[in-house]
Amino acid sequence: MTGPQQTRWWGWGESRHVPLTEQLEHLVVQAFGLDGSIREPVDLGAVALPASTLEPRARLRLEAIVGPAWVRGDTASRVSHSAGKSYLDLVRMRAGTPPGAPDAVVFPASHEEVLALLGVCVQERVAVVPFGGGTSIVGGVAPLRGEQHAVISLDLARLSGLLTVDAASLSVSVAAGTRAPALEAFLAEHDLTLGHYPDSFEFASIGGCAATRSVGQASAGYGRIDQAIQGVRVATPRGELSAAALPASAAGPALRELVVGSEGVLGVITGLLLRVRTRPAQYRYEGVVFEDFGSAVEALRHVVQDHATPDIVRLSDEVQTSVLLAGVEGGGRRAPLGRVLLRTRRGVLVIVGWEGQRDAVERRRLHTMTLLARGGGDAIGEGAGRAWAASRFAAPYVRDELLDRGLLVDQFETATSWSGLWPLRAAVANAIEAALGARGTPALVGCQISHVYLTGVSLTFTVLARAQEGDEEAQWLDAKNAASAAIVAAGATISHHHGIGLDHAEWAAAELGSLGTSVLAALKAHLDPSGVMNPGKLISAR
Ligand SMILES: Cc1cc2nc3c(=O)[nH]c(=O)nc-3n(C[C@H](O)[C@H](O)[C@H](O)COP(=O)(O)OP(=O)(O)OC[C@H]3O[C@@H](n4cnc5c(N)ncnc54)[C@H](O)[C@@H]3O)c2cc1C
Repeated sequence: MTGPQQTRWWGWGESRHVPLTEQLEHLVVQAFGLDGSIREPVDLGAVALPASTLEPRARLRLEAIVGPAWVRGDTASRVSHSAGKSYLDLVRMRAGTPPGAPDAVVFPASHEEVLALLGVCVQERVAVVPFGGGTSIVGGVAPLRGEQHAVISLDLARLSGLLTVDAASLSVSVAAGTRAPALEAFLAEHDLTLGHYPDSFEFASIGGCAATRSVGQASAGYGRIDQAIQGVRVATPRGELSAAALPASAAGPALRELVVGSEGVLGVITGLLLRVRTRPAQYRYEGVVFEDFGSAVEALRHVVQDHATPDIVRLSDEVQTSVLLAGVEGGGRRAPLGRVLLRTRRGVLVIVGWEGQRDAVERRRLHTMTLLARGGGDAIGEGAGRAWAASRFAAPYVRDELLDRGLLVDQFETATSWSGLWPLRAAVANAIEAALGARGTPALVGCQISHVYLTGVSLTFTVLARAQEGDEEAQWLDAKNAASAAIVAAGATISHHHGIGLDHAEWAAAELGSLGTSVLAALKAHLDPSGVMNPGKLISAR
C-alpha cells in the first residue's frame, strides 16, 4: 500500500536514525554498568504468531466489503498491528514474543465500509481494534478478542484526507485516519494550522488523537485536542452516531464528549470537524535557566496565573535537565542543548515558545520573560530554543538506541493541582526508585512539566534503569504498579494525555468510581451490545 510512513515493528520510525550522543553512551556505561554492546531484535520471521482463528466465511464477507487486497493475514501485517509503542510493547516485540496478534488486518476506505464491517463482525463474532498510527503507549491497540471468536485490527490509513475547508469559520473536516503531519501539510496549503504536536506527531493519526484526548507540545497555546474538536462522525455497531458541529450549544450534555477519549470501545471515529487557526507568521522558542526546580515552578505558576502563559512550556527538573544535557532530546553526536546548558552552569532548564503574528509574539514574549526574570530566571536565548525545536520528535528514536544497549526507558504521566505538585512528584519518584531499587536496578527518575493550567500542571516522569535481561516485563510491571499506586493515592489522574488503554484500566476505575465506571459500561452496552469494540480497554473488566 502506498500511504503513510509506518513505524518499525519493533521500534520507532522507518529509516531515520538518531545516534546517541557521546555523553549518553557514557551514561549507559557509567551510571548503569552496561558495556554498550548492542542487543538486536529478533528477525521478523522468528516472531511467535498464533494461528489465525478468522473463519473462512467471515474473511470472505470482510473481503466482499473492502476488496481481497485489503484483508491481510501475512506475517508482516499481523506483527506490525499486534502492539503499540510502549516500553513493554517494544521489549516483547524485540524478543519476538507479542502476547497475541490480530487474526487479520482490514483497511476500510470509507465511513460506509466501516459500518458494513462492524455489521459483519457482530454477526461473525469478531472483535475490532481500531488502529490509527499505532502509537498507543498504554496497550490501546492490543489485539484482544474478549468474548469473540477472532479479532481484527481495523487500520484506518486509507480513511485519509482533508474533506472540507471553511476558512471563514476556521473549521475543517478531516478523515479520521489522516496522520498528523499530512494534516498539517494539507492545512498549510490554506495558510491554516491545527497546532497539535504530540511527541508522537510523526506517526499519530488525528482519529487516534481524538480517541485518546491527546495533548500536543503547544497545548498551552492551542489547547488539548478535545478543545479543537467541534464535531465527530462515528460508526458504531448500532449505526452512525454524529455530534453536530456547532461553535457552542446548550442542548444538554455534549454527545461529542462521549466520543472524545472513548478509545475505540464505543465505535470507530471516521471523521472530525476541527477548529483550526491561521498559520503563525512567527515561531519563537527560547531557553531560560533557574537555580533549581522549586524557584522555576514558582516563577512558572506566576506566569500562568498572571495570564502570561507562552504557547509552549517544557520545564525540566534537575535530573531531567541533566538527561537533556546528555542529549536525550539533543539527537546527534554533539548534544546541542547540552552545550548551551554547560555554558550557564545553572540547575534547571525551561523551554518557552510563542507562535502567532509578530507583534503579538513580541508583546506576549515580553510579558512572560519579565515574570520569569522576576522569579530568578536567566534567559539563555534562542539557541536553546532552536536546539529543542530541531530535536522535538527525536526522543523515541533515542529510546530505540537505549533499548539496543539494554536500558529500561519509560515515561509515566499524570496531572495535579499546583499545591499537589510537590507531594505527587516526591511520591511517584520515591515509589519508582524503591520498586526498581528493590530489584537491584537503581533508577534515574526525571520529571518535566510540559502542560500547564491556571489550577495545575501535568507531570511527565522519565525513568531510566538497567533492564533485567529475561525479566524485563516483571521489572517494568513493578515500576509501573508502584507509580500508578502512588498517583492514585495522591488523588492525581492516572492519565493526563496517554489515555487508559489496557495498562490503566484498573487504575482508572479508582478515579471514575464504581458509579462512574458503570455509566461508561452502560453506554458501551447500548452502542456495542455484542462487545466487539476494542475489548478490555478503558473500562476495567473487574
Ligand atoms: C514516543 C511517544 C510519544 C508520545 N507522546 C505523546 C504526547 O506528547 N501527547 C499525547 O497525547 N500522547 C502521546 N503519546 C501517546 C500516543 O501517541 C497518543 O495516544 C496518540 O493520540 C495515539 O494516536 P494513534 O493514531 O497512534 O492512535 P492508536 O495508537 O492507533 O490508537 C490509540 C487508541 O485509540 C483507538 N483509536 C485509534 N483510532 C481510532 C478511531 N479513528 N476511532 C476510534 N478509536 C480509535 C485505538 O483503538 C486505541 O485504543 C506518545 C506515544 C509515544 C510512543
